[in-house]
Amino acid sequence: MAGAVVVFDFDATIIDGDGDLWVVNELGLNHLFTQLRSTLPHNLLMDRMMKELHSQGKTIEEIADCLKQIPMRPSIVSAIKSAHASGCELRILSDANVFFIETILKHHGLLDCFHEINCNPSFVDEEGRLRILPYHDFNSSSHACNLCPPNMCKGLVMETIRDSVSADGKKQVMIYVGDGTPDFCAGLKLEEGDYLIPRNNFPIWELICANPVLIRANIHEWNTWEELAALLINTTNTSFIEDLDKSTTSAATARDCKIEDTNSTISTHSNGTLRVPH
Ligand SMILES: [Mg+2]
Ligand SMILES: [Zn+2]
Repeated sequence: MAGAVVVFDFDATIIDGDGDLWVVNELGLNHLFTQLRSTLPHNLLMDRMMKELHSQGKTIEEIADCLKQIPMRPSIVSAIKSAHASGCELRILSDANVFFIETILKHHGLLDCFHEINCNPSFVDEEGRLRILPYHDFNSSSHACNLCPPNMCKGLVMETIRDSVSADGKKQVMIYVGDGTPDFCAGLKLEEGDYLIPRNNFPIWELICANPVLIRANIHEWNTWEELAALLINTTNTSFIEDLDKSTTSAATARDCKIEDTNSTISTHSNGTLRVPH
């Protein structure tokens, strides 16, 4: 049995909300954030927000304490632990920064579940200010993707992830979970037999509905945190993974099957098990 590679977005996919906006709100930066948001890319704006916090005397520990208060569903914590324990390789692909993500994951005991976190670099400088940097250096090279912000094209990063997980020549089933427009860009890199798990009624879902033929992966949307947790827990199910493998080998014959068909190929049964007809 081959374990699937599960790639998660972070904000509004693992945590219940947006970590950047949470910090801005909770630490009283709303006014400045709103004032500057039309003048700076988001990544630079968050670095500027950290400068402001530092100038107000806020410590890195206070920022960490704020991050630890971000809502996260216990069912998602359990589901991630379960998926990891099953042997799935878990990864994060996020436009947040590494300090925010690692602080939150550590707080919930999840950091060790993840094989790799691809996100914006950050560090605490000698004055104690959190610096946030772009994933791609967009001053020296633009990725030219109009779905993604200048500092990170998730589709480009997904190509790198796919190359690294299939380095031994064996096809790995990939599952991508996300809610945003850049997550749609990542989803475009999935192949037949892979799974895209988009959040319903969020930007990714609108893009999927508007461009149904572009996604080659099977699609199974989620509405509630309980639905997402059930999907994640079922990645630990041996037969589910085996079914995913089988669906991969037959994917070429289903090349033209898009949302209408793929929605019917995977369903959650009342006993909580996922079944993929073949
Ligand atoms: Mg998100
Ligand atoms: Zn992109």
